[in-house]
Amino acid sequence: MKTISLLGATGSIGTQTLDIFREHPEEYKLAAISVGKNIDLTRKIIAEFQPELVSVQTMADYNTLKAEFPMLKFTFGEEGLIEAAVYDKSDILVNAVLGSVGLNPTLQAIECGKTIAIANKETLVTAGHLVIEAAKKNNVALLPVDSEHSAIFQALQGEKEKNIERLILTASGGSFRDRTRSELEQVTVEEALNHPNWSMGAKITIDSATMMNKGLEVIEAHWLFSLGYEKIDVLLHKESIIHSMVEFHDTSVIAQLGTPDMRVPIQFALSYPDRLPLTTGNRLNLAQIGTLHFQEMDMERFRCLKFAYEAGKIGGTMPTVLNAANEAAVAAFLEGKIRFLQIEDLIEQALSAHQTTRHPSLSVIQEVDKETRQFVNSLL
Ligand code: NDP
Ligand code: MG
Repeated sequence: MKTISLLGATGSIGTQTLDIFREHPEEYKLAAISVGKNIDLTRKIIAEFQPELVSVQTMADYNTLKAEFPMLKFTFGEEGLIEAAVYDKSDILVNAVLGSVGLNPTLQAIECGKTIAIANKETLVTAGHLVIEAAKKNNVALLPVDSEHSAIFQALQGEKEKNIERLILTASGGSFRDRTRSELEQVTVEEALNHPNWSMGAKITIDSATMMNKGLEVIEAHWLFSLGYEKIDVLLHKESIIHSMVEFHDTSVIAQLGTPDMRVPIQFALSYPDRLPLTTGNRLNLAQIGTLHFQEMDMERFRCLKFAYEAGKIGGTMPTVLNAANEAAVAAFLEGKIRFLQIEDLIEQALSAHQTTRHPSLSVIQEVDKETRQFVNSLL
């Protein structure tokens, strides 16, 4: 039996990870969780899964839950995230918290030798070099949960890195795939949150609509698979059936397909190197689907994707700025403070105001992350 620490247990990926534990109670034991502010759901998770350690975001919730569940261990805040991540009885950290707040817990869990199943892509974007270095040094496996990266990881089983010609990440196009830039001027938060294929947390749904999600995934792929940006392509594929592909130097292409269901990549990361059944999954029926569509990415239509390639190629602290500016701008959009297209304007301004620092340490990354959020908020 594998024991798990799950950060972000109340979120979209978190709750789907719990579904996998329900499917395979004999395989997985939930030892520690972190949650944000959804305390009602936290109570249900405690009752059903009985984790030993629970980390909440605020001290007020910490005091409330401690009084309700005197037998459990509670902790809170950013320190609490780390405590849950490094919990000594856990073998695996599933990091499904949102945003670069997930960086330090990931690094600490790696230092403790935990296997990392990573959904939290902001961690890899903001400080991929630190995470990869630490994972190599501690001989820790970093298993992708993001569906595109899981697809690539699956396609690469038994293959050699030297034979890879390029990765092809597929992109659904998000909520506004078929709208022109001028039609994007007045779109609302509700429209942006209405993703055609996937049901996900609010931030990543907006990231899909701006195409920043694919930009973050390009940088995530660069780190996970140690490939240069010239070997990472993006292809628009509106059905989200092919989750991504790898082209090899003999021109052969291996793709991973399936109905859009995040439980598949979550479960693959947890069961790796084995593959478990998913009896509640929807099997793929290609005859019923009939046709799959593909289209070249338009970098001017989806400027955030272009920014991500540029920031990734510059490297150093530039991806940290890209990520922090995006987190701040998306939060402002969700709060109704800015219009949809201002998200990319704010990111562009943050990137052009920044001078990159090469090989940044953790403290430099954290400082740049904080300054960038302040810079973006000062422009609102
Ligand atoms: P959600 O917003 O649904 O969930 C985020 C989780 O993190 C919740 O448990 C939330 O707590 C918690 N949280 C948020 N902020 C903090 C904080 N400051 N401190 C502690 N906990 C916090 O996000 P998703 O599940 O959609 O995404 C999680 C990560 O997975 C992201 O990095 C995303 O990019 C990635 N991902 C998601 C996919 C998806 O299908 N959803 C697909 C691929 C990657 P609470 O709700 O209790 O406040
Ligand atoms: Mg993805």
